[in-house]
Parts: sequence; structure tokens; C-alpha cells
Amino acid sequence: MSGLDPRPLHFVGPWDLDRGLACWPARPEDGPVLLVESVGRSRALPFHRQKLALVLAAQRHAAAEARAAGFTVEIRRARTYAAGIRAAVAARGSTKVIALEAPDHGIDQALRAADLGAPLELRPDGGPGGRFLLSREEVRAWGAGRRTLRMDLFYAWMRKRFGVLMEGGAPVGGVWSFDKENRKVPRGERPPAPVWFAPDPTTEAALAEVESWGIGWGALRPFGWPVTRAQALEALQRFIGERLPRFGDFEDAMVDGQAILWHAALSPALNLGLLRPMECVQAAVDAYTRGAAPLNAVEGFVRQILGWREFIRAAYLLRMPAMRAANALDAHEPLPGFFWAPEQADMACVRAAVAGVHDRGYAHHIQRLMVLGNLCLLVGVEPLALSRWFWAAFVDGFEWVELPNVHGMALYADTALTTKPYAASGAYIDRMSDHCRGCRYDVKQRTGAGACPYNPLFWDFLDRHRPRFAGHPRLGALYGTFDRFPPAEQDAIRSTAAALRARFRAAPSPAWSFDDDAG
Ligand code: SF4
Repeated sequence: MSGLDPRPLHFVGPWDLDRGLACWPARPEDGPVLLVESVGRSRALPFHRQKLALVLAAQRHAAAEARAAGFTVEIRRARTYAAGIRAAVAARGSTKVIALEAPDHGIDQALRAADLGAPLELRPDGGPGGRFLLSREEVRAWGAGRRTLRMDLFYAWMRKRFGVLMEGGAPVGGVWSFDKENRKVPRGERPPAPVWFAPDPTTEAALAEVESWGIGWGALRPFGWPVTRAQALEALQRFIGERLPRFGDFEDAMVDGQAILWHAALSPALNLGLLRPMECVQAAVDAYTRGAAPLNAVEGFVRQILGWREFIRAAYLLRMPAMRAANALDAHEPLPGFFWAPEQADMACVRAAVAGVHDRGYAHHIQRLMVLGNLCLLVGVEPLALSRWFWAAFVDGFEWVELPNVHGMALYADTALTTKPYAASGAYIDRMSDHCRGCRYDVKQRTGAGACPYNPLFWDFLDRHRPRFAGHPRLGALYGTFDRFPPAEQDAIRSTAAALRARFRAAPSPAWSFDDDAG
């Protein structure tokens, strides 16, 4: 780099990679662009190797494409994002830094507090030019005065707010959610092949670099995630054409050896800013309008993007920083060691989910919530231990995603996000998957060494938390069922569950210290 450049420096986070976002200069003459490869961040947790490579490759592709379009782009390696910006400002003599509000609380706070060497102009990360649909002001206005945050109310409000799948002020099809039509299991039906992209030389270089670091977890190859906006758009179009029509029917299903099924797997591209949420929603709605996909599929997909994704981000904004410390059920068990070693998991459903995460950094939402999250809820795993695992192990994981999903939805640690815990016995997994057929445990048994672990753990969980849930309108009836079990069976449930917890506790995952707010 030669000479000083007092023009505004545009900081583009690794979650801001689409040039349509408001942190990018509109024209090359508006100022240089800075991307930072944060060494501290990449080593903060044992991140999945594909995630480390994905971020590096996507940043470098975005930089190369911007340079080809005439922009001045610098990639700087630094300990933190703030340190990288500060060094670039000093080197260039920048008079201002322009950035989007950062999605993770720690980085957001660190950037706001840091002395960057020049004033910081933070632009909204929601609304036009943002990576989310709602501005932070709109989120705060929606949350004002609410003690509980209900996804169904938020989703209906979002449908009306953006006029998506609406007809004369009412939802198309007469109901807001077709969730009840999204619970089929594909007995014998095969999904289309997943959309993967062969690594080009830039991606190969990122893969080789991550390999040379000797850090992280999970398989680095085969790697096929979209790393450019063009690839992300192709993945979206192929999902709409090839998988969306059956996505709704099989949205909640789990099949041995098939991690992606009919899912879009677009969350990594969305969370890096390579895709924008409304273009995904619009592509699905267009497919419905032209008769290319049924309403239960299109509504199910819209619910994931316009509903769940925006709701999770809103809940994170509204509940931080308290959400990070929330532990309503006083859960303190360590994360079982097999979360890092799928070959050590002897439960077929858990082994399939963790193996999928190990192999590609991905599992779909029911595996996350009802297999992995449910097990940790029933065992009583410390919420931060699980949320950090999700953050580290998934290619689409950031704190803003994982904390609300784990603390709010899966573990009922922050009770503001759901009216009851997502607790289920093995019967749910048996109904929604083919895992139980090949499992060493018997999904019909409640007690003893051969019983499906979810069964004694489920009843024991209810028993241990009787004061909290016995009066719950939907859980209360289950206590009547438990109380009708013979006393000897109740005791056997308690002792089987205690033995399982002791076994998991005896082989815990390694603990690590981590400064969430290091920036
Ligand atoms: Fe999972 Fe239980 Fe079924 Fe085994 S029997 S696959 S542990 S639900």
C-alpha cells in the first residue's frame, strides 16, 4: 500500500460479504474496504475446520470480486477485529470507519467501545442495507412490554409487516402455520443429491492453510459449501427447483446416513451475508405463485427465514447479556464427551447427528433440537457448555444463533422464549426417524440397561422438576401418567437415569476458557 488515504475505511465483517450491504462503499471512489482475519476469534473455540476454511475462503473471494470491480480492498490479519481496524486506520490515515452493527454481542460491544483511531459510523444491521429484515429499533418496539417472546405471535406479525403469503389481511390458506402437515417420514423416498461446489484454487488455498494450523475439530474434506454470492444464489435456485416441493412434507424427518434430506442448507451462506433473507423468502413465494411448490412447503420455508431466523436474532437482541448467564433449571452436568467423538456414541440417533456435524459441520433443526438438545435438556447439561459446542461445531454457528437456540429453545435455560421445554422420550425420535431400528437400545423400554436412554431420562426430568412443571397446562397430565407407574418402576426409572447421568459425567468433553466479549 502506498501513501495515506483519508477517505472513510469500510470495515466488512465476515458476516457482511454481499456488496449490497450498507457497510460496503457504493462506488470505488467512496473509500477502501477492510476485511480482517481475526486470529483470536479463530482460536477462541475448537471450531469446525470447514467453518474456519469457509470463512477464510468466502472473505477472500469477496475481496477478489470487489477488487475486480475496481474497489480498493485490504485483508489484514490481526488478533481481534478492532485491532485490525485500528492498524489499518493508522496505516492509511483514515478519517472515519464505516461498519454495520455486528451480530454477536461481544464483537458489537467491543467495536463500539474500542479506540479505532478514527470515529466509527455504525450503520443499521437490519432493514434496507442490513443483513436482517428488522432494524434494532423495530425489534425493541416489538419487544417493549413483553415478558415472554412468542415465536407464533412474532411470525404472524412479520407476515403482516412484510406482506408475505397474505391475502386480504389474512394468511394464504387460512392458517399461519402448516406445521402439522410437515411431519411425514420418507419411507424409501430418496432426496436429490446435495448441492456442493468443488473448491477452486482460492478455496483450496484456504483449506490448505487451515490444515497447516493444526487446530479445530471435524473433517476438513470433502468441502463443498458455497463460498461466493454466485454459488449461494445457485444453491438457493437449486433448492427451490429440486427440494422445496418436498421440503414441507419431510421437514422434521431424520434418516440414517442422510444429513441434508430436503433441507435448503442455506444457513451458512445467509449467516455470512452471501444471501439476503428476503430474496430467499421471495424465491419460495414465487415458486408457490407459479404452482411449482405446495403451500405447506413454501410456508414451512418462509417460517424458517421470516419467522425463526428473525425471531432468534430478535430474542438475542432483547435478552442479552442476561441470556448468556441464564440457567433456570439449575443444570450443571458437563457435556458428554461423545459430542466431540461420534464413534463413542452408542445411541444410533445421537451418533448419526454428531457424525453429520463432524463430517460437514451441519445437522438439521430437528436433529439439533430433538436429538442433541433434548438429550442435554433431559441430562441437565450446563447451558453454556452446549451453546459453545453448537457455536464451535456448526458451520452456520455464531453466538447470536446458538445462544437463543440453546438457552432459549433447547434447554429452557432462558424461559422467556418458549412456554415449555422441548422434552421428549424416545417415542418422538422413533416416530420421526429410522434410527431406532438399528440401535442397540430398545425404544419401547423405560428402565434397565437396554432401555432407550431418552425414556428414563424423560420421566426422571419431569420427576426432578415437578415443582416447576406439575401445574403446567400441557405437561401436568404427564405427572398423572408417571404417578400411575408402580412405585418399583418409578424407582427403576430414577436409578436408570442416575446411572446414565453418571456414565455421561464420567466421560465429559474437555472444558475450555473463553472470553465471550474479547471482540
Ligand atoms: Fe435414539 Fe433411543 Fe431410538 Fe436408540 S432407541 S435411536 S437412543 S431414540
